[in-house]
Amino acid sequence: MSLLELRHLSKTYPGQNGAVVQAVSDVSLTIEPGEVLGVVGESGCGKSTLGRSLLRLIEPSGGEILFEGEDLMGLSQRAMKPRRRDLQIIFQDPFGSLNPRHTVGGIIGEPLVVHGVGTREERAARVAELLKLVGLPEDAGKRYPHEFSGGQRQRIAIARALALNPKLLVADEAVSALDVSIQSQIINLIADLQKRLNLSILFISHDLSVIRHVSDRIAVMYLGRIVEVGPAEEIMDAP
Ligand code: ADP
Ligand code: ADP
Repeated sequence: MSLLELRHLSKTYPGQNGAVVQAVSDVSLTIEPGEVLGVVGESGCGKSTLGRSLLRLIEPSGGEILFEGEDLMGLSQRAMKPRRRDLQIIFQDPFGSLNPRHTVGGIIGEPLVVHGVGTREERAARVAELLKLVGLPEDAGKRYPHEFSGGQRQRIAIARALALNPKLLVADEAVSALDVSIQSQIINLIADLQKRLNLSILFISHDLSVIRHVSDRIAVMYLGRIVEVGPAEEIMDAP
């Protein structure tokens, strides 16, 4: 069984003058356990809408989201909560998701609090472990997000996303806002964590040179549809 299977997923937004924007159209995809599926396409083709829809951070208009065989579309948002442990996301600009008033340790540990995991001491130990995992200094937990560079903030976002040992990580343009040299550090970190944790990743990027480094398979998106999907070598070799 695939870890995730999307069947005919679609999302429309209300457009101007009563028009309808078909952001995602009839997308069917699978992600296997431990697989990195790259999703590439021009800006505006629907990648971000796809990534958020499959976590139901925005409500899809139709289709099925089978996660370990269970259709998430049939669940209320309340019933989704325990599933969110397994499904995490990181964004282009982690600053938006890093509350400036909370310590980095508090930010990374928050999902543990929300899901009632462990005692205070156990959570602190897990936060320390996560800081190490993503290559942040031990004392980072006591500091605040604005004290860190863009690359380090992305490490904080990754640590937070991994706190609950998710099975699937959606990376939505996770390195696009970073300088090229920092990009490769974060890509290498994600690739290393993917192998160590046997994570499945949906890796969204407009940048084929980023996608090719991390993906086992690549899906090419155009105007809301997946127009091609296959092993990374095949997609890259296509004329
Ligand atoms: P990508 O991530 O590939 O850049 P998006 O998923 O952000 O693409 O956008 C897909 C399409 O949906 C675009 O035409 C965009 O303008 C439109 N869109 C995205 N979000 C909204 C929204 N909240 N309301 C209306 N249209 C939207
Ligand atoms: P904040 O006020 O910054 O949101 P909290 O005190 O609410 O932080 O802590 C939230 C979680 O993060 C707790 O589980 C706590 O154990 C952990 N935590 C908070 N600060 C640190 C830190 N400096 N180092 C390690 N873990 C921390």
